[in-house]
Amino acid sequence: MRPFTYERAGDLSEASRLGANTGQGQTDAPVQFLAGGTTLVDLMKLDVLRPTRVVDISPLGADLAGVALTSRGLHLGALATMSKVAEHPDVRRAYPAIAESLSLAASDQLRNMASLGGNVLQRTRCPYYRDPSWEACNKRRPGSGCTAIQGYNHNHAVLGVDENCIAQYPGDLGVVLAAFDAEVELSGPSGARLLAFTSLHRPADGEPHLETNLRPGEVITGFNVPAGAWTRRSLYLKVRDRSSYEFALASAAVGLDMDGETVRQARIGLGGVAYRPWRSPEAEAVLVGKPLDEATAKAATDAAFAGAVTHGGNDFKPELGRRTLVRALLQAQSLPVSEAS
Ligand SMILES: Cc1cc2nc3c(=O)[nH]c(=O)nc-3n(C[C@H](O)[C@H](O)[C@H](O)COP(=O)(O)OP(=O)(O)OC[C@H]3O[C@@H](n4cnc5c(N)ncnc54)[C@H](O)[C@@H]3O)c2cc1C
Repeated sequence: MRPFTYERAGDLSEASRLGANTGQGQTDAPVQFLAGGTTLVDLMKLDVLRPTRVVDISPLGADLAGVALTSRGLHLGALATMSKVAEHPDVRRAYPAIAESLSLAASDQLRNMASLGGNVLQRTRCPYYRDPSWEACNKRRPGSGCTAIQGYNHNHAVLGVDENCIAQYPGDLGVVLAAFDAEVELSGPSGARLLAFTSLHRPADGEPHLETNLRPGEVITGFNVPAGAWTRRSLYLKVRDRSSYEFALASAAVGLDMDGETVRQARIGLGGVAYRPWRSPEAEAVLVGKPLDEATAKAATDAAFAGAVTHGGNDFKPELGRRTLVRALLQAQSLPVSEAS
């Protein structure tokens, strides 16, 4: 690991001041915030991330680790651990898809250490990104090319990719936050602001080294997830190469508001198959106003994967993604639903 300076932020304004030159959102940012460290330290050891300064924001956990359910929705502090939120009774009852996405992620040890803010900012698991001995990786070395396109791309993305990068977004929680209209609370040198979660991660757009729309020095302080009937009738289904301690090959976050057999509203997120946390308004639109059965579920999944682009090793993904989503929709339909609080 390369030498770096370590500093602890006592409060938010100190964090923003110390992080003001972060070049944040870029792979090669010279300053990085440290929360649980389970992505950051990993990638520093691999020599993928090379910050010269690490700003520890874990002391802010006293103020930024809360979980609160209100009539407007759910608030999650960015420094809450994955395990705390996964086990929280209000989250399990009113937002089961969020609890499931967290409890199906990583391992007990990692979930006890890792924060929600760090989770949504985790980096791709593309093997060419994570191994600097590969010269060509546009995400790591802008303009160098993409080894994965002609290489080993078994678990690469099929949605939202371009000719510069086919890296998969590997996280689980982000898929649910994208589907459920969540917003991100930010605090930075020029004050606080809110950002739609679907605008946090940038599309590939020829510049895959620019990963997020965070501004320099901005700390994620929390997430707001609105209330809606679909959050209670919700689930997260994750399909992977082995059944635990593994990233998704395909996953689906589904929330349904039903009027008898008919879909009043739907929320659909897709994971494991896309460049960034993926919401599918196309699939949602197919379902609204229709009875939910296998035929309508399949029609929705066809809409979701209409734009899929594969590269050989991941040719199986659109079909796996479709089947995952059909299963998730039919399972969500038959869920017993808790009363609104
Ligand atoms: C072996 C292994 C298996 C895993 N499996 C899964 C899985 O199946 N599913 C899944 O979803 N995840 C998985 N993960 C990823 C894991 O969930 C993340 O590493 C973890 O959530 C990151 O959180 P952290 O607090 O440790 O972040 P850190 O490592 O501290 O930070 C990660 C990044 O986010 C930035 N950051 C952190 N917090 C903030 C903030 N509040 N504001 C601004 N920037 C911030 C940091 O600067 C850094 O760039 C796995 C990880 C490992 C190592």
